Amino acid sequence: MHEWALAESVIKTVETKPELKNKKIKILLGELQDIDEEIFRFAMDELLKQRESQIKYSIVVDEAVFKCNECGREFFMSEITKKSKAQRENIHFIPEMVKAFVKCPVCDSIDFDIVKGRGVMISYD
Ligand SMILES: [Zn+2]
Repeated sequence: MHEWALAESVIKTVETKPELKNKKIKILLGELQDIDEEIFRFAMDELLKQRESQIKYSIVVDEAVFKCNECGREFFMSEITKKSKAQRENIHFIPEMVKAFVKCPVCDSIDFDIVKGRGVMISYD
């Protein structure tokens, strides 16, 4: 249940940053990150309630971006059409598996970098 651990560390981080007080924070969950959004939201709400915290937040799924090392093209999960639903779920649960079947939609190279979509970030307006 690392959603709970993540929720706790997000809250602790926000609490230690005075500039985030009274702001509505945005939590960006990487598309390739192994986080269940519903469990995470539930954990956030429960922990905030326990702490009587005034933190307001929203959750945004951060789309994964890949960059081909052959042709330089940047591409998204939605462009990789050959994947099956099962593969998508594998990606969700085991980010490392992305390397096993993702390839550049332009030149078919399997030599690519994950530019974003793996991390969890906090931002605010
Ligand atoms: Zn390419």
